[in-house]
Amino acid sequence: MRDQKMYCYTCGTDELHRRLTANEKAWLKNRTVRKTVEEFFVCKAPGCRNLRTGFQKRPFDGPLRLPDDL
Ligand SMILES: [Zn+2]
Repeated sequence: MRDQKMYCYTCGTDELHRRLTANEKAWLKNRTVRKTVEEFFVCKAPGCRNLRTGFQKRPFDGPLRLPDDL
């Protein structure tokens, strides 16, 4: 899957995003109690790792970042 440029709510700019790895999906499912997290992308800007879906730039009340150690 190719990276996609889309708006990052945390960066405030259009940034490259990638799909989540299996480990990251498992973490997010556990963290959000969602049944599916296939629609999520993570920002690739250095130090950001903010999560969004393909349609919603801000799917949660506040920013949700992937932990650095996943
Ligand atoms: Zn970002």
